[in-house]
Amino acid sequence: MEIIHVSAECYPVAKAGGLGDVVGALPKYQNQLGHTAKVVMPMYRTKFLYENQFEVVHKGAFGMSNYWLDYTIIKETTNYLGFDLYLVDIYNLLDREKIYGYDDDTERFTAFQIAIVDWLSKWEHRPDVIHVHDHHAALIPFMMQNCFAYRHLSSIPTVLTIHNAQYQGWISWDKSSLIPEWDKWKWGQLDWDKTINPLACGVRCASKVTTVSPGYLQELQYNANGLEKLFEYERGKCSGILNGIDEDVWDPATDPLIKTEFGIADAATGKQSNKKILCDEFSLDINKPLIVFIGRLVGEKAADLLPQAIMDAISNGEGSVNFLVLGSGDPAVESQLEQMNSHFMGYYNSQIGYNEKLSHQMYAGADFLLMPSRVEPCGLNQMYAMRYGTIPIVRRTGGLKDTVKDFGEDGGYGICFDNATVWDITYSVHRAVELYSQRKRVTEIINTIMQIDFSWENSAGKYIQVYEYIN
Ligand code: ADP
Repeated sequence: MEIIHVSAECYPVAKAGGLGDVVGALPKYQNQLGHTAKVVMPMYRTKFLYENQFEVVHKGAFGMSNYWLDYTIIKETTNYLGFDLYLVDIYNLLDREKIYGYDDDTERFTAFQIAIVDWLSKWEHRPDVIHVHDHHAALIPFMMQNCFAYRHLSSIPTVLTIHNAQYQGWISWDKSSLIPEWDKWKWGQLDWDKTINPLACGVRCASKVTTVSPGYLQELQYNANGLEKLFEYERGKCSGILNGIDEDVWDPATDPLIKTEFGIADAATGKQSNKKILCDEFSLDINKPLIVFIGRLVGEKAADLLPQAIMDAISNGEGSVNFLVLGSGDPAVESQLEQMNSHFMGYYNSQIGYNEKLSHQMYAGADFLLMPSRVEPCGLNQMYAMRYGTIPIVRRTGGLKDTVKDFGEDGGYGICFDNATVWDITYSVHRAVELYSQRKRVTEIINTIMQIDFSWENSAGKYIQVYEYIN
C-alpha cells in the first residue's frame, strides 16, 4: 500500500513532543512490513534541513484569500530515515525556525494543507490512503471532498490520527476564505460551536479516526475539550491504537546520546553510572532516589502542581529524595521551578528548555519518572523510561492507564495514583522512596520493565488493518 502521512512534526526533522516521535517511527515500521509509507511536512528552517541533501520534486501555486502563494516540494534524497520525506516550502509562511507559536499559525498550516492537496491533485497515480495527524492536517479530508478544485481526490480514503484533542486549531469564520473555494452547503462539516474547528471537521470527514491509545478514545467521550458529543456520535468510525516506541532510537544499549550504554544484564551499573553524570552536573545526591519529570510545562501535564508537590515531598521526607525537572511551557511555572533551584540546592534542580540529549540521559540515569498528567492521550515518556529501567510514577489516565500497572497489583511494576493533586503526588513519591530502599524488589522491577514489548511492529500492523478496511 502507498500511505502518505501528513504532519506538522516528524523526528528528527522537527519535534515538539510525541507527535514528532510517532510520525518519525510509524512510517519506518510500515515500510518494514512491505508497504510504501511517505511523510510530508512543512519545510521549517531546522538543523536537519542544512545537514541533509534534497531535490526539488514539484513546484506549484494556489490562491489563499487575496494572496497567490507559490510552493515547492523537496524530497530528502538518501532515504536514511527509512521512509521518503517530502518538505513543503512556502516563502514567508513555513520558512521559520520554530514549529508553532506564531500569530499567523492559522494561515501557515492552512497554506501547508492546501499545498499538499494541490500537489496530490497533480499526481498521475492515486495513493491508497492519506493519513493526516492532528488538527494541523485535519482539514485535508474536507478539502479533498468539498473544494471544487480538488474534488477528484474524494475517492482516496483518509485516516485522521488524534494525538491530542485539546488543541483543535480553531479558525474564526471571518477567515473562511482561507479555504479554497468550497461547497457552501457543507459549512456544517467545518463548524463546531460557531467556529471553524479543523479537528472536529477531520473527525467528520475522514474515513476512519484513530486515537493514540484505547484508553484515550474512551475518555474522549466525556473529556474532549468540547467535542465529547462528536466523539460519542462518531464512535463507530473511531479506534484506539497504542503508540509504539522507536527501538532503534530508544535503546539504552546503543543510544549515542547517553554517557554509559547498558542492557538488562548490566542495568544496575549502567544506570548508576548515568545517574552519577546527572547528579554531578545538577548537584544532586547519588545516594538518594532520583525522580525526574520531562515534558511540556502545561496544565495537561499537571506541571502547575510540580513546584508545590516537590517542595512538600522534600520537606516531608526531610530531604530523602532528589528531583530533576526538564521542560518548557507556561512562563509562570517555568519561573517558579527555576527559582526553586537555589532554595533546594542539593535536592532539586531544573533545566528550562528543550534538550533532546539531556532527556535521554535523564531516562537512563533516573530511578523514577513522574507523570501526574491530567490528560495523556498515550504518553511516550513512560515507555521510554521503562525501556531505560526507570520506574514510572503515573496518574491513571489515557495511555498511562493502558501501559503502567501498580507494583502493589499482581505482576505490577510502576506506581499509579488516581488524582492530579499535590497530595496524590507526594504520597506516590513517598511510596517511591520506600520502594527504593528495597533493592531486590527494585532490581526485579527494572528487569521486568526493560523487557516489556512496546515495539511498533504490533501497532504498525493495526494501522494497516484500518487502511485495508477502507480500501
Ligand atoms: P506530548 O506529545 O503530549 O508532549 P508525549 O509523552 O507523547 O507528550 O511525548 C513527549 C516527547 O517529547 C518525548 O519524546 C519527550 O522526551 C519529549 N520532550 C518533551 N519535553 C521535552 C524537553 N523539554 N526536552 C526534551 N525532550 C522533551
